[in-house]
Order: sequence, then C-alpha cells, then structure tokens
Amino acid sequence: MTNLLGRFVRAESPSFDKAAVDRFGRIVASEWKRRGATVTLLRQRERGNHVRAEWRPRGSHTTAQILVLGHLDTVYDTGTIVRMPFRVSRGRAWGPGAFDMKGGLVIALCAMDALAAVGCMPNKRIVFLWTSDEEIGSESSRALIEREAQRSDAVLVLEPAAGLDGRVKTGRKGVGEIELIVTGRAAHAGLNPEDGVNAIEEIALQIARISRWNQPRRGITVNAGVIEGGTRTNVIADRARALIDLRASRAEDMRTLERKFRALRPIRSGARLEIRGGFNRPPMERKMSAALYAKARALSKEMDIKLGEAFVGGGSDGNFTAALGVPTLDGLGAVGEGAHSPGENVVTRALPERAALLAGLLMAV
Ligand SMILES: [Zn+2]
Repeated sequence: MTNLLGRFVRAESPSFDKAAVDRFGRIVASEWKRRGATVTLLRQRERGNHVRAEWRPRGSHTTAQILVLGHLDTVYDTGTIVRMPFRVSRGRAWGPGAFDMKGGLVIALCAMDALAAVGCMPNKRIVFLWTSDEEIGSESSRALIEREAQRSDAVLVLEPAAGLDGRVKTGRKGVGEIELIVTGRAAHAGLNPEDGVNAIEEIALQIARISRWNQPRRGITVNAGVIEGGTRTNVIADRARALIDLRASRAEDMRTLERKFRALRPIRSGARLEIRGGFNRPPMERKMSAALYAKARALSKEMDIKLGEAFVGGGSDGNFTAALGVPTLDGLGAVGEGAHSPGENVVTRALPERAALLAGLLMAV
C-alpha cells in the first residue's frame, strides 16, 4: 500500500493543472482496469477529467448501487514534490496529498483486492467516482456526484479521518462564500471630502455588523478573510470589496444567514452595496450518517479496531450527497495529520485497517 501511495503522491495533481490531474487520473484508471473494473474517463474542458470505475457483481443484474467518493486533485502546486518528497519514516508516509486524499484512493483499491482475495464480493454495483476539483469547490463534478448519489443506497467518502485515532466524519458544516462590493464616491480628501462617500468606511461598518452574526457554539461562523479597496491616501475611496467565509451546522441556519446577507442595506448615505454568492455546500447533518456509522462501529468491533466519530467544520463532496437525503459516511480514508500543510502525512499501520473497514462496509451496506 505504501508503494502504491508513493506512486500516487509522485504524480502531482494540483486542481488548477489540468494536464497534471489528467495524467494522475490515467494512472488511477489503469489500476482499476487492471482489477477488472469498467472505467470511464469523464472529460472536462477546463478541469481535470473525472474517473468513474464501476464494479458489477458477476452474473447479477442488480440495480442497487453503492457510491464511493474521492478526489484526484490536491492543493499543492506542481513542483512541490521537490520540497516535500515522498518518504516513509517513523511509521508515517509523507508527501503532498498523501493524506488528503491519495491515501484514500489506495485504500479503495486495496479494499477491492482484499475482497477478491477472499472470494467475497458485494452483491451491489459499486461505483467509485474520483473527481478532479474537490479542493476548489467541485464546480465541474457536483452534478455528476449528485446524479450518482441519487442512484445509490449509500455514499462512502474517502476523505481523511479526523485525528490520529481515525474517527470517521458523521457531520460537516455547510460552507459558503459571499462577495461584498461597496461603491462610494471619489473626492479629494483635502479639498472637498464632503462630496465623497468612503467605500472603505462603509465596508468596515458592514463587516463590524456581519461579525456580530457569529454564534460559534451553534456552529455559525462568519469570517471576513479578504478585504481590498481604495487607491491613494488623499482620495476618498470609491470602491471596496470583501470576501467572507460562511459556515453553519444546520440547514436552517444556512438559510437564515443567506437571508440576512440579502437584507443588508448601506449604512452611510450615498454608498451602494452589492452581494454575490452564498452557500456552496449545505451542511451534512448527522442524521444522514447515523445508520452507516452504526454499521461501521459494529464492523470495527469485530475487527478489533477502535472507531469514533467527529463533527468537523470543513466541507467535502459528502455535503452534497447528504443534503440529497442519501445516507453518507465520510472520513473513511487515511489516518494521518497535517492536511494542506508541509507536514502532511499518513499513518502507514492504519492503511490496511482502513481498507478492511471499507471492504467490510461494502459487504454490509
Ligand atoms: Zn480532500
């Protein structure tokens, strides 16, 4: 498993580099073909191609389907591998994307190998969907994910586990982004400031107002992460812009927050306000994971693996499928640390355990 992970990590695949993601996609596709899966490349113009591998039980005409989700892309630019070479040491495998989520891709392949080795195969059709743009919002893959999810009895997501104890993710916050654009009126800061409307002041007041909407205990967070505006100190700024990250644990809070943004009005007279965007991923609520988690727990007991659950603030493609009402269990991928950072690594000892857990789930769901 570590060798395969090394091959996957060395084939860098940043979301914005189509040629690189396509190259890695072909490597993954060939691994599935070798195992007898029916592989389709879903070609994309701008983003990398998505890879769909379908495994059908021999001689069966079942229409029941399980969807296994993962992504090919990483957040690391091409060339990162020079500074962060793949290596195995102290029980960990290190490298860009090893944990998020090439480890998960390896786990899926080895789960199928394990089932084949013991001659024990699920009686449902299994669709493995490896998408190319999860790290940048899944714009080109969302419709495809939702279509496959709607045909499925369950969705298993191979995103990294939470914590070194390998907790699966039974809930995720919904995630959104709002762009706030303020238009004021330019004037000379010394000669006729009274004729101007300062867009920077307006946006500062708006951000102060918005930041009061934070309710961290309820799982609602609003964060102004980018702000820009103005040209020179002696000019009353006629334009300012802010990008705001939104998160909510509950669907109703997501809707309320969106409504509150739409209802924002200028504070300074003469200022104009434009609001774009909203929630991209709805929350994944625990009720959509509970039954699958109970199955995973029972399996882990049989296997003598400790398994817990976590609710996390980050979104994944599991948010889309859970919001459609399809049972979804996330965080079934690798155990490790440091996603999206120079220290990203996978606990190698946990790789076969996770493959066993996934194999068991594929049989049990
Ligand atoms: Zn990921």
